[in-house]
Amino acid sequence: MPIYEYACAACDAAFETLILRKSDEAEVECPTCGSRRVKRQMSRPAASRARGGGSASSGPPPNCGPIG
Ligand SMILES: [Zn+2]
Repeated sequence: MPIYEYACAACDAAFETLILRKSDEAEVECPTCGSRRVKRQMSRPAASRARGGGSASSGPPPNCGPIG
């Protein structure tokens, strides 16, 4: 399916969107903040992680409530 990964340049949120037509790419906006400053990520297998490590780009999960 033509689902592409996008990353928002405004709030740094990552999301996926369905691109059926080429013109849809110009109308992609961030579902979190509604910004149009999004960048399409290269499609890659989900089970594959970048080897080596070093880049700390992922923050803590949004839902971090107390358990118990
Ligand atoms: Zn955003």
